Amino acid sequence: MKTTIIKPPAIIAEVKEKKEEKYRILVVSSGALKSSSDAKGKAPIFHTAKRFKDEAEKTGHDVYILQVESAYIEYEDGVYKIYNADDKEGFEINSTNTVAFVRGTVRLKKSWLDLLSRLEKIGVCMVNDRDTVEVSSDKYRTYLKLQDAGLTQPKTVLIPNGEKWKEAVDNLDSKFPIIMKTLEGSKGIGVLFIESERQIESLVQLLYNQNENIDLLIQEYIKTDGDIRVIVLGGTVLAAMKRSVIEGDFRSNISQGAEAKEYSLTDLEIEHSLLAAKSINGSWTAVDFIPSENPEKDPPYILEVNHSPGTTGIEKATGKNIVKTVIDYYSNPNNRYSVPSQVGYLEVVKITPFGELVAKFDTGNARYSVLHAEDIKVDGKKITFTHGDKTIKTNYVGDYISQTGGGEDERPIVELDFEFTGTKYGKIQFGLNNRDNFNTEVLLNRKIMRLMNVMVNPSRKYVVTTKFSV
Ligand code: ADP
Repeated sequence: MKTTIIKPPAIIAEVKEKKEEKYRILVVSSGALKSSSDAKGKAPIFHTAKRFKDEAEKTGHDVYILQVESAYIEYEDGVYKIYNADDKEGFEINSTNTVAFVRGTVRLKKSWLDLLSRLEKIGVCMVNDRDTVEVSSDKYRTYLKLQDAGLTQPKTVLIPNGEKWKEAVDNLDSKFPIIMKTLEGSKGIGVLFIESERQIESLVQLLYNQNENIDLLIQEYIKTDGDIRVIVLGGTVLAAMKRSVIEGDFRSNISQGAEAKEYSLTDLEIEHSLLAAKSINGSWTAVDFIPSENPEKDPPYILEVNHSPGTTGIEKATGKNIVKTVIDYYSNPNNRYSVPSQVGYLEVVKITPFGELVAKFDTGNARYSVLHAEDIKVDGKKITFTHGDKTIKTNYVGDYISQTGGGEDERPIVELDFEFTGTKYGKIQFGLNNRDNFNTEVLLNRKIMRLMNVMVNPSRKYVVTTKFSV
């Protein structure tokens, strides 16, 4: 598949700060699985989590290291708070200025991932969200996403079960040696170098014997003396390093003892790293690739996109303060967004005093939201109009011109209380117009949809509300 590739921005050392603002940092991590003996009741704080705490405190942001295995959320007096098991005070989380940095181990349990879903529902900005965490933790799902983006990868085939390995090898159609990986491995654990058909047969047997539900894939082996790790933050490259293959091994993971030094990316490598991060909807990610033989002209082989970049190796190799740059980046509110919820193109909304009405979610409408109205009369600063069986008198805000198929149409604007799925949005501006010739009495614009943080599914209606009550 041919993709259109955006022109890469130049690599930058520090992200420009547009607007400094204090915000609340929640580092979502887990430590209990590391070792119960060194945890001594309290889970150890991992290096990157600790770096976040130190840097955030230096800059004056509030920071909380959450140990996900015993965390709980409470809602009181309109405020959400999250707590570690041994903490009575907790940490306020909200949709306006809280950012959750999700660390790697959180992917290991469904209930921990469920906590991410709860944070998403509260409207916390997720770095990264549950979907990105899950795609990135599954090497084959990542493979499919990268393929959609038209990126180059080592050819990859799933092994469906313990008997079908031979078909998978035939499908891969690659000479030995090949690489075999568990779908969810990380830090180089669960990545195997396979030199012959005999070897893969016995390994698959052994692995399925140990765990009949094991997930495996095989992959073409790309000969290289090392791989490249690129740190991507919101559509720009922060830093890149080369990790040399460990002597006597084929892997280049730092956690396996590989050495790293700063690497200068070609334009093509920058483009492809940005596309890779984007293809899993990552906000702050690490892209791993094997360079091609001619990196100026031929694209790199993308190996994986990590949703929770470690910072030790890259900070040491490049001398850059990655954690500070990341923290600064999210201090700009324009760089923070919460995970939207899906709605249909029609949903029931509440507009006071008219009650529940069917609204069309018009993502093409950058002007005003519209409410059906009859007998409109403007009298100085007041306006009177009828909707259904109610006639109201309210403040007349002004007029706007709407370009319609039939020409220009001047419409008055009013402000009305608006509510959707139990959340009150206060006074929202509506243009008034006779909508007798339309199917819906309300038309919403993009501004209110942004406020509601929704994503419109054009194939469905009433995804989150029901029409019965209207
Ligand atoms: P992990 O998530 O465990 O880091 P990777 O898929 O990144 O797993 O693989 C670990 C290391 O193994 C990589 O850093 C790379 O050095 C090596 N490797 C992985 N896949 C290949 C491949 N197809 N060809 C050559 N080396 C590979």
